[in-house]
Amino acid sequence: MRFEPIGILRSPYTDKFGIPRQPGLVTAAEGRIELFPPYARREAFKGLEGFSHVWVIFLFHQDCVTAGWRPTVRPPRLGGRESVGVFASRAPYRPNPIGISAVEHLGLIDGKRGLSLRIRGMDMLDGTPVLDIKPYVPYADALPQAASGFATPPEMTGVDVEFSAAAMQRLRALDPAGERGLVELIKQVLAQDPRPGYMDRYPQRTDFGLSLYELNIRWRLKDGRIEVTRVETD
Ligand code: SAM
Repeated sequence: MRFEPIGILRSPYTDKFGIPRQPGLVTAAEGRIELFPPYARREAFKGLEGFSHVWVIFLFHQDCVTAGWRPTVRPPRLGGRESVGVFASRAPYRPNPIGISAVEHLGLIDGKRGLSLRIRGMDMLDGTPVLDIKPYVPYADALPQAASGFATPPEMTGVDVEFSAAAMQRLRALDPAGERGLVELIKQVLAQDPRPGYMDRYPQRTDFGLSLYELNIRWRLKDGRIEVTRVETD
């Protein structure tokens, strides 16, 4: 059996570093699934307006298809120190590198790239091939009593994020009307402290960078807070 993508996902995440570990953690991240023909037809989504969220089933296309898999992985949630079985993890490196994410959908739009489904809060890389979309059905899919092993929810209090005057000035110039919501997006992405768990072994490293859209965001850790020092464009 051969699966063909039904579309391609567009997200602010142009690099793996900084992508949240699961969907719904960065609600300021908006994007879309650009549908390919013959799936780019409104009738294929008839009835979806009654659902607020969808399951997106996708391919971990970057590195994971060629890298192969191992029976155990070291999840970032455990600081990269402990190993668990691949089937006890949500690691992208798996025998069939397929991901599932429940995300909010904001309906269909017609754009210059044809029909797209707008989505919010994704944890996928820009350019991710989408294999399927299904409605999220709370009575069957939401299991609040379920045990979640080592995958405890992240601290929602987050880390304080500040901006240098230079970074804020650059962001205002790039997004004068605030329509792109760049400040809020950067705040939410950095508030999760996207450094890999093992970084506590390198306390001397305080300066980092991450990509969002066409931007390179330079930031540093200062007294337990994060400061965005510079915002650069390619
Ligand atoms: N929610 C999905 C799941 O449980 O199957 C994905 C969880 S996985 C832990 C999320 C991570 O996958 C992201 O932080 C990013 O590093 C990586 N990722 C996202 N999109 C990817 C892609 N297209 N190719 C490779 N890695 C990707």
